[in-house]
Amino acid sequence: MRREEMLRRVRERQRPWDIAVIGGGATGMGVAVDAAARGFDVVLVEAHDFGKGTSSRSTKLVHGGVRYLEQGNIPLVMSALKERGLLRQNAPHLVHDLAFVVPNYSWWEAPFYGIGLKLYDMLAGKYGFGASKLLSKEETLERLPSLEPEGLVGGVVYYDGQFDDARLLIHLAMTAADHGAALLNYCPATALLRDADGYVNGIHVRDEESGEELDLSTRIVVNATGVFTDSVRRMADPAADPLVVTSQGIHLVFDRSFLKGDTALMVPRTSDGRVLFVIPWHDHAVAGTTDTPLDAPSLEPKPLDEEIEFILETASRYLTRPPTRADVLAVYVGLRPLVKGEGKTSTLSRDHVIHVDDSGLLTITGGKWTTYRHMAEDCVDHAIVLGKLRDEPCPTRNLKIHGHLKKSTQLGNLEVYGSDAEAIRALAKDQLLAAPLHEDLPYIAAEVVWAARNEMARTVEDVLARRTRALFLNAGAASEMAEPVASLMAVELGRDEAWIEKQVQVFRALAEQYQVV
Ligand SMILES: Cc1cc2nc3c(=O)[nH]c(=O)nc-3n(C[C@H](O)[C@H](O)[C@H](O)COP(=O)(O)OP(=O)(O)OC[C@H]3O[C@@H](n4cnc5c(N)ncnc54)[C@H](O)[C@@H]3O)c2cc1C
Repeated sequence: MRREEMLRRVRERQRPWDIAVIGGGATGMGVAVDAAARGFDVVLVEAHDFGKGTSSRSTKLVHGGVRYLEQGNIPLVMSALKERGLLRQNAPHLVHDLAFVVPNYSWWEAPFYGIGLKLYDMLAGKYGFGASKLLSKEETLERLPSLEPEGLVGGVVYYDGQFDDARLLIHLAMTAADHGAALLNYCPATALLRDADGYVNGIHVRDEESGEELDLSTRIVVNATGVFTDSVRRMADPAADPLVVTSQGIHLVFDRSFLKGDTALMVPRTSDGRVLFVIPWHDHAVAGTTDTPLDAPSLEPKPLDEEIEFILETASRYLTRPPTRADVLAVYVGLRPLVKGEGKTSTLSRDHVIHVDDSGLLTITGGKWTTYRHMAEDCVDHAIVLGKLRDEPCPTRNLKIHGHLKKSTQLGNLEVYGSDAEAIRALAKDQLLAAPLHEDLPYIAAEVVWAARNEMARTVEDVLARRTRALFLNAGAASEMAEPVASLMAVELGRDEAWIEKQVQVFRALAEQYQVV
């Protein structure tokens, strides 16, 4: 993926695109993959970097959602469990099975959660990841040595999937590009174009790097902008009723020593009635999440003090070594686009919706990362009818995602790149590029060069937040990596000293927000 080449194709396009997608998160990128794989001409524009929004800020679970089972939303759980299986099949280098233990501190919890999780296994059917089972106290502690033993009766182990969200997003972008889609980051849609009858037939975009303004004409516009859904809908109809509400969830990241073993901890009912996970991820421990309603979305939401305290306090009840603020290596915040309804945000629908405005603008929102493929299929099916496009079947159930590699564990730290790891290793034959960028994180200089050359990374933040996950794992270390990363990128992108200085300054200011003081 090269941005200059994408821009050239967009500029030179004479005919209308079949589908133009606004929003480069899981939802929009899923639509781009689906539509391009069906053979349609697709363009996608993202206001910032691919995955800058919620899609890089999830709990990193590919799951059916045990909590939705409790809420009785069986169709959602079944559909998500099936998607979980398909995603592991199509991106085996990125999706892994993970064992979760629900610890039991009361006698009734074992039968209660045991039966619930058996139902979860059953609903997965042939897409199952492993059978759940009851554990004795000793077995529970064997799997979770960091678990508070006092009062522990036993536990239940069950299996779900885990992934690297931003890496999957980049590999989806590369999949879409492999199938011919044109993708532009740093290119917000600033207005919608209309035909004589008032139907949306294009988007006006601005290239944030050059300031160039472009009109892209298209048969169908798909609005896949997550929590920004309504602001794009209001470009077509300023009086449009809101479709989504925003709810914030934060995660705290700690050193791996807080969670020994390879099993995740799942607390099914916190004091505010939510689920809390502590999961091993990229050799760290991630704890979350919260559910705080917000009035207005932003691209860099801030954690609230009470959210940080809530996670620390809840995790401390279950871990032998209670984490404190000083132990937090990074805090990251994501915003859920929840389909509007009545009630608390934690009980609003996690299902996706497809909405067509009078102007013909096709909006897709809600859902979850795990179900992005199914959402995309549904959306493109609608686009075909609405845009009178030729009826092409959806091929994504068995479509390999870029990087697809069955046996990738031997790639060590480069595992998430799957089949691209070989090319990065080739770059790292140069001693300078084999050098680690920080002693506390596994990233090497070759990954920066690869990201700038092939993954459309344009800024230090793109590399440290989404091409690698340094910012999300250890914000202090990421801040220290800014300078070498900027220098490596400057060579690749042909930037000068002033650019390096500015990039370092901007990134360090951002990294402060990911630290807890
Ligand atoms: C805390 C939290 C934890 C979660 N954990 C999980 C999990 O473990 N598993 C799971 O399956 N799901 C999880 N989810 C849900 C999942 O992350 C989201 O459903 C999904 O990422 C939403 O993707 P999206 O593409 O709709 O939105 P986003 O990822 O927010 O993408 C929307 C994009 O649109 C862009 N945009 C906005 N306006 C414009 C414009 N005018 N022009 C161009 N681009 C624009 C934005 O910059 C943004 O990048 C979690 C969500 C949260 C908040």
